[in-house]
Amino acid sequence: MGRVIVAGSINMDVVATAERHPRIGETVAGQSVMYFPGGKGANQAVSAAKLGVPTALIGRLGRDGFGAQLRAFLADQGIDLAAVKESTSASTGTAIITLAKADNTIVVIPGANAELGAEDLAQVALAAGDVAVSQFEIPQATIAAFFQRAKAVGATTILNPAPASAFDSGLFALIDVLVLNETELGFLADIELGDAPSLQQVKDAVRALKPNSDQTVCVTLGARGAVAVSDGEARLVEGRAVKAVDTTGAGDCFVGALAARLSQGAPMAEAIGYANLAASISVQRMGAGPSMPSAEEVRALL
Ligand code: ADP
Repeated sequence: MGRVIVAGSINMDVVATAERHPRIGETVAGQSVMYFPGGKGANQAVSAAKLGVPTALIGRLGRDGFGAQLRAFLADQGIDLAAVKESTSASTGTAIITLAKADNTIVVIPGANAELGAEDLAQVALAAGDVAVSQFEIPQATIAAFFQRAKAVGATTILNPAPASAFDSGLFALIDVLVLNETELGFLADIELGDAPSLQQVKDAVRALKPNSDQTVCVTLGARGAVAVSDGEARLVEGRAVKAVDTTGAGDCFVGALAARLSQGAPMAEAIGYANLAASISVQRMGAGPSMPSAEEVRALL
């Protein structure tokens, strides 16, 4: 059995709630402020670790209070943090979220995440059977170096290209499994997919990415579940009918659970089904990290 190794972002999400958003130049009194550990890298590592799989995170924090809190939180989840270093100059990645009624505005400061470089990768030894996971909240050159190391030892690579941005040349070829939602797929395929694209539209958009026959593209479709395309064959995994209360982090839960199952040697189709079940549990609870299920909770649904 392998490990899940995530190279990715670690953020503190600061959520302020107010009756309404301030206008430019205006100050409004808010109701509450909440602090949530976040960042796609950290969330996906938490998802895998909570499912009982040995998990390591490669990342950067600032030398500040948020950095110390995040390190303590992630260590508590049992994540190996030997490769999480403190930047001397940048602050810990921070998302400033203002929530008024159901509408939010978000300012994300990448801070130390933007400094994660190839030199940080040497801290973690990758081995055959491991699953290397990354997202687009750290520099793409670092992701490419990480995946090159992974491929060199026979580890599996998973990329979640979120938030959507164009690929640097050469990175796509290093991916074994691409996991993305409809918005990211539309962006990368340069196709207008709308709110609820048909399976044919999803298949056509995946084809536009020109994956090779060894690559799997897994498109998450919210409540509808996910579609996995391998070697031109598409397979729908239906979403579980549940009452969703907060879908924050559902995609991250899916990616972490997929990596966790693949690291245990499960075939791709089974791992995608497992990730779909895990994510369906996470949407029934508030928050990102705290909503991730345990292995027992997922097993109860199998
Ligand atoms: P993202 O958060 O990246 O936009 P999605 O919204 O596609 O990702 O959700 C990821 C996965 O979470 C889905 O593929 C599905 O397995 C699960 N999921 C999301 N929303 C629901 C829902 N309302 N009911 C059941 N499962 C859901």
